[in-house]
Parts: sequence; structure tokens; C-alpha cells
Amino acid sequence: MSVKAKKHLGQHFLTDESIAENIANSLSLEGYNDVLEIGPGMGVLTKYLLKKNITTHVIEIDTESVDYLKANYLHLADRIIEKDFLKYDLSLVFQQKPFAIIGNFPYNISSQILFKTLELRHQIPEFSGMFQKEVAMRICSKEGSKVYGILSVLTQAFYDAEYLFTVPPSVFNPPPKVDSGVLLLKRKTNYNLPCDEALFFKVVKTAFQQRRKTLRNSLKTFNLSDNLKANVIFDKRPEQLAVLEFIRLTQEIENQ
Ligand code: SAH
Repeated sequence: MSVKAKKHLGQHFLTDESIAENIANSLSLEGYNDVLEIGPGMGVLTKYLLKKNITTHVIEIDTESVDYLKANYLHLADRIIEKDFLKYDLSLVFQQKPFAIIGNFPYNISSQILFKTLELRHQIPEFSGMFQKEVAMRICSKEGSKVYGILSVLTQAFYDAEYLFTVPPSVFNPPPKVDSGVLLLKRKTNYNLPCDEALFFKVVKTAFQQRRKTLRNSLKTFNLSDNLKANVIFDKRPEQLAVLEFIRLTQEIENQ
């Protein structure tokens, strides 16, 4: 018996064992003793995590998948959280302990999964996940690239992002319409920004909302002083700014 794929839950089950194993092997297992897999489905990735010297927890919203996991992975039974990852309070399971995140994610909520990870970055030293290829490339892209945007800057402010490999639609059941990409995030040694973090998020989001405009125009709402506006950095468009420059810019706005 297997789980029938449900479209509204973004279910595309991976059928290639070696790819599942490669994803599981991408974690370094350093700096934490627990890993949380989001959306295990029928456990193709989970079974490789269970072989490792680490405690595996899974969070799955689909009752049918949860029943399947309980029946087929007896040792996992009391570490299955039958909840929506986006809504669940993970401190109920991990308290303040560090844990890694891994998964072949439901693509409809993959950006939200990333944003929740960024919020919980103090507890998440490592993150390995499969996204739509385009989203994975965007997250890892650098300034100057056409796809460099909010996801790239906010992620790379706290994590080193590495694009690992591309996965074709043919290895899923049912096959998705697009290629997939696996990426690895490793938290930076210093993941506290030397500026007001809330202001940093706001500056980045506001700048990219009008990505074709210069910062002088797009950041008007921050009431920039004439002195600050004279700085040549404001001639630039957001996609030209490296993460560090966004941090410096935030510091300048803070101190003006
Ligand atoms: N990892 C499995 C399944 C991938 S499909 C594999 O590779 O084969 C995505 C999985 O995420 C599905 O099992 C789906 O039920 C689950 N899912 C979807 N939304 C979720 C949410 N909000 N919280 C937790 N799991 C979710």
C-alpha cells in the first residue's frame, strides 16, 4: 500500500533512492544532535536519516502519510509530528536545542519554510532542502545576477548558501512541471548582524519591491537626510548591492 499523491499538499514523491541518499548525506551532522525532516511523505529520505548517528524527527501534515510512516518505520513512531510546519511551535519538541532542517519540500510553501528558518536561525545551524530549481538558484545567487533578490540577501546575511545539484522531473511520482534543485545552507559563525535587524529586513524588502529604481527613489519612505542621499550608493539599484553593502546602508540609515 502506498500514499496517493495529493496536489493541494504539493506531493511529488521522490522515486530515486540514490538521490534521496545524496540529500541525506549533504548534512555535516556537526553542531547538533537532532534533525527535523519537513514533509517526509512515504519516508524515502527518512530511511537514510535513520541510519545516521542523529535523532530524526519528522513533521508531516498528511494523515495518510503519517499512517504509512507509523506502519513502516516503527522506531520513528514517537518522533512523528502530525502538524503544519508553518504553524507549529517547534520549541515544544526542541526547547532551545539546535537542530538541522532537511526535506524535499512542498514547493507551494518553500519560501515560507525558508523564512521560518531564518526566524529560527539561532537554533538552526544547517539546512538542506529541495526546492524548485529556479527558487534554489535564486536563494544562492550573488549581486549582479538577474535573479538576485529578497530571498538571496536575507538568506545570505545569516547563511552561506551552496547550490548542490539539479534533479529532473522524471524521478518523481507524479512528475512536477519543472526541474528541482537541492541547496545547502550553513550558518555563518557570526549570524548576528551589526545593525538593526528589523530595519535591515525592511530596507531589503522595500528596495527590491521596485528593483528597477535607484535606491534614492525606492527608499524615499525612510526619510533620508540630504547628506545621506548624496552618497553614491543611492545611485545604485538593489540588485547591485552585496549583502555587506545592505548592512552598511542599514547602519547609515540608522545613524543619520
Ligand atoms: N519527502 C517526500 C515527500 C515530498 S512531497 C519525498 O521526497 O518523496 C512534500 C511533502 O510535504 C508531502 O508529504 C506533504 O504532505 C508534506 N507537506 C505539505 N505541506 C506541509 C506542511 N505545511 N507541513 C508539513 N508537511 C507538509
